[in-house]
Order: sequence, then C-alpha cells, then structure tokens
Amino acid sequence: METAKTTVEEREQVLSAAIGRLVVEVEPLQLQHNLAYWQASVTGDPAAEEEAVRLETEIRTVFSRRGEYESLRALAAAGGVADPLLARQLTLLLNAYRGQQLEPAAIARLLRLEKRIESRFNAFRAELDGRPVLDNDLRRVLVESDDSTARRSAWEAAKQIGTEVAPELLELVRLRNEAASSLGFDNYYTMHLMLDELDETELFGLLDELERGTRPLFEGYKRGLDARLAARFGVAPTELRPWHCADSFFQEAPAVELDLDRHFAGSPLEALLVRSFTDIGLDVRDLLARADLYERPGKNQHAFCMSMDRGDDIRVLCNLRPTQYWMGTLLHEFGHAVYDRDIDRALPFFLREPAHILTTEASAMLFGRLPKDPAWLGRHAGLPADEARAVGAACARATREQLLVQTRWMLVMCHMERALYRDPGQDLDSLWWDLVERFQQVRRPEDRRLPDWASKVHFSTAPVYYHNYMLGEMMASQLQAHLRRVVLGGGPDVDGRYVSSPEVGAYLVERLYRSGRTYDWRETLRRATGCELSAAAFVEELATVL
Ligand SMILES: [Zn+2]
Repeated sequence: METAKTTVEEREQVLSAAIGRLVVEVEPLQLQHNLAYWQASVTGDPAAEEEAVRLETEIRTVFSRRGEYESLRALAAAGGVADPLLARQLTLLLNAYRGQQLEPAAIARLLRLEKRIESRFNAFRAELDGRPVLDNDLRRVLVESDDSTARRSAWEAAKQIGTEVAPELLELVRLRNEAASSLGFDNYYTMHLMLDELDETELFGLLDELERGTRPLFEGYKRGLDARLAARFGVAPTELRPWHCADSFFQEAPAVELDLDRHFAGSPLEALLVRSFTDIGLDVRDLLARADLYERPGKNQHAFCMSMDRGDDIRVLCNLRPTQYWMGTLLHEFGHAVYDRDIDRALPFFLREPAHILTTEASAMLFGRLPKDPAWLGRHAGLPADEARAVGAACARATREQLLVQTRWMLVMCHMERALYRDPGQDLDSLWWDLVERFQQVRRPEDRRLPDWASKVHFSTAPVYYHNYMLGEMMASQLQAHLRRVVLGGGPDVDGRYVSSPEVGAYLVERLYRSGRTYDWRETLRRATGCELSAAAFVEELATVL
C-alpha cells in the first residue's frame, strides 16, 4: 500500500510522464485506425474494414489496463493536479479508462453481438407480397402512393426487421447493462451519458423544455397536416395511422413543392462552398483538396468528416449531386472540418479535438442551414433579390416544419432509449406506441403487438447518441442568435452581413474552435455566448418564422 504523501508538483510530473507514454502508444494506433477506416469507406474493401475493427479493439484494450487506471485514480484521490490542462486531461482519461474496465471476454462478447446485429440490418431484405424489396422502394411507396392499403403493406414491411433483431438486441441491452453495473453504474444509458460528460437529469430537463416549447407549434402544424393527409387519402382524420406519414417513423415533414435544385445545377458546389466560407473569412481550399466528393462503386454512400491526425490531414467524404440537399450536406461536413482544423495545434493530443460531439454538430448545422437562408440564396445561388426573398420565405417555412417534426421524433427516441436500459423487461412494444402518440400525435395501429421500436437501427449500432443531434441543433440556434445580435450588432441588414462578414469566421475560430477540448462543452458554450445551453433560441426561431 502506497502511504507516502506526494506534492502537487510530483503528481504533475507523474501524470505528464503517463500521458506522454500513452500518446506515444495511442497516437499512431489512432492514425492507423483512421487510415484503415477511410480506406474502407472510399473503396468498400473488406480487408480495410477488418483492419479498422482490429485497431479499434486494440485502442480499447489500451484503456482497459487496470494498473494504469488505478494509478490515475490514486493520483486524483491524492489531490489531483493544479495545472488546468493537465487536470482536464486527467478528467478525460479517467472517463476513457473507466468505460473500458471490462474483462477482455466481456468486451469481445459485446463486440461480436454488436457486429452480428449490424450485419443482420445490412443483409436484411423486407418482403412485400412474398417478394424481397429494397428499403428505397418501400420509402418511395410512402412518399408517392395515395393508396392506404399499399401504404400499410409497405409500412408493415419496413417494420419486419424489428421482429428479426429484437431478441438479440434485448440480449445486447442486458449485456451492456451488466457491463455498466460491473463498473458501478445504474445502467448502460446512465454510464454512457456520464462518461460523455452529459448528465441524465440535465439532458431530460432540456428535452422537457423543448417539448413544452414546441408543443403548441407542433399541434398547430399537425392539425393542418392531418387535414391535408385526410383529404389526400380520402379518410377521416381519426382514421390516419402511421403508414400515412411520409416515412416509416414520421421523422420527416412531407416534402414541400419547392424545387431549388435548378439553382445548384449551374455552378459546381465546390465553388459555392469556397465562396461561402471565404465571405465569412474562412479559407477551406486546403480542406477541399483532401476531400473525396464524388460517387464511386463500393464507396460509402453517406457523408462524414474525419480528422486523421489531429493536424492538417482532415478529410471530408461526400457523394455530391448538384442539388440543394448535397449543398447543405457539403457545407455541414465542412462545418466539422474547419472546427477540426482551427483547434489550437499547441494543445496536447488528448485536448486537440472539438469540445464535444454536440459542439462540432452545432458548427456543422450552422453551415448546413445556409442553403435555406434567403440572404445566402440571394448571394450564392444567383437568385434576384425578390425571388430570393420569396424562395427564402418558403424555405424558412419548410425548415421550420422539418425541425418541428424532427424534434418530436427525437423526443420519442430519447425517452424510449432511456426506458429500454432502465427496464428491458417491461412491455416495450406498448411503451413505444405510448411515446409515439404522446410526442408525435400519431395513432397506434389497432391490435399490433410487435417490437416496432427495434426496427430503428440506432438502438443497435449507435447507442446513447441520438440526443447529440438535438443538442447540436439547440446550440446552433444559440450561436446563430449570438452572432446576429451581439457579434454583428443586429440591425435591419444583419441577414446579409451574417453571410458576408469576416467577423463571423473570426468569432467561430477564436471563441469556439480554438480551445478544442480544453473546457467541457458547458464551459465552451458559456465562453462563446455567455449563456447556458437552453431550448429558448431554437424554439424562438421556430416560432418567429413566417
Ligand atoms: Zn455532422
């Protein structure tokens, strides 16, 4: 037993040395992992994919070492360190180690089951009228068909995967809970939030605030939507069921007749991207040079941004088509990329990252919203001022509807996931529909007793993550309000200046990006805006749009 008293200087020396050794080990592993992951994403090469999984396991194993974790704990218990950067790294490392203090057999069992469910999702083909169908085909029925019976069959087909994966998913939930409980947490959900510097009470407080703030707006929107849907499908509003929504979860507002794509057919999206950033004082040409932007066989069909080395090598992956959707996605991903790039390079390795997923999502969402901004459309999409205003107003309405629908859907997901880990033995099938009726105001189908909730892939493959999207939207609204009112000083021409002032880029770099992970996300937001995270700016934005 160690009894010798240590001074703060001694502890700082010990910690610095431990961090130094860890960086020497982890930094190259992280880089190799990122390179393998990138290779797998741009080629679909299974060998690269396997290599990425192997390296991920290796990194997790580093943080599973008990001896190192215990010395860090002892160091913290003996009084910790005084240097703020060292103290911050100690906090982050304690969290990283704590989450991995599992028996190697338990880690392997969890990974195996996660991968098995993931491949079940990838390989599954729903059946419609006895024939296998693609997800895209089912999606098309729900967008295009006016026939309630056909829609119902497509909707039911989209839920088949739920029954297929539910038993294994429940087993995975129990295993995750066992792991969490062996580490001293109530359940996996609570653990995951806490190690990610989020607090369950705080999170659900924010979600409640959001629920109250959006309820009257959503009810107004939903009444109008139901009237339109009832007329379209020739049924009474009380006869509307989940299959009358535009997608199988009611995540999206039905598309508005608003064809903006023609404005993006003329000039390459890359040129619009560079101009959008240059106008607010940020140069993205170096980032563009490393991006992989066009479709290819075998390539990952989505979009993401990845900092390979926490230095210059930051890569964006997209599958561009000349549409408004891809313009928004491209701007979103570069909103992540500028954040990664403009973190202070002098920071230690473990702090050279965005403060939190929610803060980098907020930056990305801020830029991703631009192609629906009237001032941006006028400036970049070549629309005459009056047309830009009209289109902008229509866009603003569409955005508002989309954000409302998305918010109510996220409330279902967050409440369901918490309940799932609190008590996986409860009647989850009924609970799901209770939540859908309460938050989305969509009536449950009569006599349906199936695990419809399990058909949402995120419960299996991206656990305890969904809330970050919502918190990111809230923070994006707060940043936007602060930029307009405080940084640019408001005024009648603020909309135009918001998309053309170098002060905007300078503010983001200096007040948000630069400090990386030096502070937790709360302090980072406070330093950037002087405020705590709240739903107010987001709700206000939804309420004030035409
Ligand atoms: Zn993102």
